[in-house]
Amino acid sequence: MKRTILTEEHDAFRQMVRDFIERDVAPHREEWDELGHPPREFFRRLGELGILGIQVPEEFGGGGESSFIYNTIVFEEVARAGVSFGGYTVHACLILPYLLEYATEEQRKRWLPGFADGSIMTAIAMTEPGTGSDLANIATTAKLSEDGSHYIVNGAKTFITGGATADLILTVCRTSPFDPEDRRGGLSIIAVPTATEGFAVGRKLNKIGLHQQDTAELSYSDVKVPVENLLGEEGAGFGYLAHNLPQERLAIALNQVGFAEAAISHAIAYTQDRKVFGKPVASFQNSKFVLAECSAETQAARVYVDHCLELLDRKELSVADAARAKLFCTEVAGRVIDKCLQLHGGYGYITEYPIARLYADTRVTRIYGGTSEVMKTIISKDLGL
Ligand SMILES: Cc1cc2nc3c(=O)[nH]c(=O)nc-3n(C[C@H](O)[C@H](O)[C@H](O)COP(=O)(O)OP(=O)(O)OC[C@H]3O[C@@H](n4cnc5c(N)ncnc54)[C@H](O)[C@@H]3O)c2cc1C
Repeated sequence: MKRTILTEEHDAFRQMVRDFIERDVAPHREEWDELGHPPREFFRRLGELGILGIQVPEEFGGGGESSFIYNTIVFEEVARAGVSFGGYTVHACLILPYLLEYATEEQRKRWLPGFADGSIMTAIAMTEPGTGSDLANIATTAKLSEDGSHYIVNGAKTFITGGATADLILTVCRTSPFDPEDRRGGLSIIAVPTATEGFAVGRKLNKIGLHQQDTAELSYSDVKVPVENLLGEEGAGFGYLAHNLPQERLAIALNQVGFAEAAISHAIAYTQDRKVFGKPVASFQNSKFVLAECSAETQAARVYVDHCLELLDRKELSVADAARAKLFCTEVAGRVIDKCLQLHGGYGYITEYPIARLYADTRVTRIYGGTSEVMKTIISKDLGL
């Protein structure tokens, strides 16, 4: 189906990303798997190509683009080539809105040029060993010093994407004690430079997929952070998270539609090539029907997310519609990739085949950014239930 949101400019950007992947990313797949993330030079290169700073204002060295569509094109090309851009999505798609919306002019000057050129890589630390879905339960504390010049941060975070390699981590902390009457109050977002004394990276967690994206445990032990690193207002952190989670969830949904489309292409190519009982696997009616079902589901998801993207660009995407997009697209991708893997037979289970990689990498998308169950809770509230 023709996509109505793409222009010639988008096609040119897509070609640039495709060429870059083919030349500078695909050849390093095994090496970066071993390393557990792409090397720092890769992020510098993304910066040089303008990919990290697409939506950063021009005055801070970015492209000044207001649409999220370029990020979507990156997702699609990464999925198509079966490669990874490491923590790119967290950095460019999840963190940037916090800096654009809540950072002061001084903070923007301090962080955005490095953000755009890849010299300041970022991560966001919400989840803790004791709390994930229930963010109001965050226990990491940030206590203001007596002279009011800095916060002292203490606590532990887990599952943090890019946590082992980031330079600056937006850390969600409790700046006033938990109040059962106001569960969402008392949380603040503080940008913690990882070079600060008392900050430490713990275990790098071994995952079943996403082998080029580091996921780490972090500990904060009397970490002194200047008050100038508070993002927005003290105590308003939960509201900021709630405001930005729709973009994070739509990014996951867009990413997953790209995954499903890539899986279908791989399955078509594989089944046309592979012969069983003297015939290509693609010639069996079952293969055709399975791929037809996958294609119909994926197209429906594509139309939905393209529309959500337009709403996001107009700042009209609701929390519930982003939750619907994430729920639907991650579940579709899970089903489609599983069926496409089945069509590969045993080879689908071997990691050198891109479908195996998609299978392993897709599973977590029903968990992170809010689980499918949390998405259903949000949607049912929107239904008045
Ligand atoms: C690879 C990876 C990368 C991640 N990256 C980041 C990151 O960069 N930054 C970050 O802060 N976090 C990150 N996370 C954490 C992720 O967001 C959490 O794992 C997720 O929000 C779920 O929290 P939890 O793991 O504590 O599960 P829990 O909250 O303990 O949930 C366990 C189960 O209970 C269910 N459940 C919870 N509440 C309800 C409810 N109200 N009704 C019904 N069922 C419910 C859940 O759906 C789930 O099935 C990452 C996780 C992974 C695995």
